[in-house]
Amino acid sequence: MENFAGVGVSPGRVIGPIRHMPKSVSEPPAGERHAPDAPEEAVAALKAASKAVQEELKRRAGIAKGDAQAVLQATSLMAADPMLLKSATKLINNGASPARAVWEAGASVAEMLHNLGGYMAERTADVLDVRSRIVAELRGLPAPGIPSSDTPFILVAEDLAPADTATLDPAQVLALVTSGGGPQSHTAIIARSLGLPAVVAASGVDDIADGTVVFVDGAAGTISLDPGAEEEAAAEAYRAAAAALTVFDGVGVTADGHEVPLLANVGGAKDAVKAAEAKAQGVGLLRTEFCFLERDTEPTSEEQIEAYKGVFDAFPGKKVVVRTLDAGADKPLPFLTDSTEPNPALGVRGYRTDLTSPGVLERQLSAIAEAASQATADVWVMAPMISTAEEAADFAKLCSNAGLQTPGVMVEVPSAALMAEAILGAVSFASLGTNDLTQYTMAADRQLGSLAALNNSWQPAVLRMVKLTVEGSAAEGHAKPVGVCGEAAADPALAVVLVGLGVSTLSMTPRALAGVGAVLNSVTLAEAQRIAGIAVAAPTAAEARSRARAELPVLEPLGL
Ligand code: PEP
Ligand code: MG
Repeated sequence: MENFAGVGVSPGRVIGPIRHMPKSVSEPPAGERHAPDAPEEAVAALKAASKAVQEELKRRAGIAKGDAQAVLQATSLMAADPMLLKSATKLINNGASPARAVWEAGASVAEMLHNLGGYMAERTADVLDVRSRIVAELRGLPAPGIPSSDTPFILVAEDLAPADTATLDPAQVLALVTSGGGPQSHTAIIARSLGLPAVVAASGVDDIADGTVVFVDGAAGTISLDPGAEEEAAAEAYRAAAAALTVFDGVGVTADGHEVPLLANVGGAKDAVKAAEAKAQGVGLLRTEFCFLERDTEPTSEEQIEAYKGVFDAFPGKKVVVRTLDAGADKPLPFLTDSTEPNPALGVRGYRTDLTSPGVLERQLSAIAEAASQATADVWVMAPMISTAEEAADFAKLCSNAGLQTPGVMVEVPSAALMAEAILGAVSFASLGTNDLTQYTMAADRQLGSLAALNNSWQPAVLRMVKLTVEGSAAEGHAKPVGVCGEAAADPALAVVLVGLGVSTLSMTPRALAGVGAVLNSVTLAEAQRIAGIAVAAPTAAEARSRARAELPVLEPLGL
């Protein structure tokens, strides 16, 4: 049986046929022309393609639900947009091929919408999507985006962009496998939030024929061709375990009663409502930039208050940790970040944007304070990408000026872990952002599949950063809580190690709460400390993971 190996980023074992994500449509060559003297035929071809695309999107909107339905409806309207078709027809009348014409027309319409700003600018991505679909239709290529199928399938892609996943139907997709992407990539984060088994950085999978039936093990990180009785049994056992593991009882606690509140990572009010339904004990990370992605102007104070209050109201009386805007690198916000920086991950991002766009942070803190005053949630506020004790002290001052009582910092840069004692002297708490802490400790871009082995939070160097931070937090004179809100907290075995290292809360996608809760509940604090010692002392990430997992027999029967 042939195997492909990658990095398992979301557990689960399934068998199913694979479907490849079509390659993105390439730009028709500049100067490509239609047959001489046949502009009418070329215009007719364009119209037919636009109609076919619109019909297909409408059909899919008819069977989709919720957000996916809204996205598909908006895109279907755009497929027959009069401005797009008129401008493409003009180009055809000047000799351009229909594909080239719609490509160029799409670019000008997108630019115009972008320049209009606000809601119109948010439609830019729809126009570009639609033009690719029309070009694919004209060329007889498969439509871009998640394939539609009448039977569930395992989606194989190079990597998935956030936009691809808007139409990802978890009832249709059994698992995600990518040849690129790392453990902290969007694919990985989305897979975990949807509860889909996933393997990233699995080189060679792009060459598996469409329709081939494979076995995916999202914990082991393997894809096997020709699954037999053994794999069937493993998939069946996982189905049963997953069904039993859907509920978190609302209290994170070790076997001997040491409480570790399990919180949720959310991107806005909708997520928060779902997190509350999943019995998260609060919010450990509100990614406020997710409320305003695609905005090219600073959100108004009213917009911000509404967005934050929606989250607070989902957790009355409970802790909600709000992170101030973390723009930059993989999360650009046009009003805060400079897209031409040569090295965005090391650039003006996170808290540093206060240097280049003074005032935005103060206005955000005031909006958070106002929303907090209208709700009963216990609101904590933290800044992303803090590197020095001066930055921590400056942030604490801004919070205090805004009337916010509990300022904190994210520890995601090695300098912050090394200086934890001084940094925590200036603020009330810290939250370890293990996604970035891993990328910066290992100097490995979190988005690159080729560096996935480095970009792994089981790296003993990363575990040592966590240990240093906790030690700094417990320094004489102050004992400040340190939580984890990076993806590491959602890996049940790693969660045990983190608790053993002394972190006091774990924040994760709500889907992971039940698994993490069950595994945490299977060990005493002393056992967690012993397992943490084993992981930290391991020479490699693979050894740290396998040695820690060997101490946690509960993982296997739970399919984790
Ligand atoms: C992190 O870096 O671990 C984190 C939680 O922040 P983000 O993933 O939003 O960068
Ligand atoms: Mg981060």
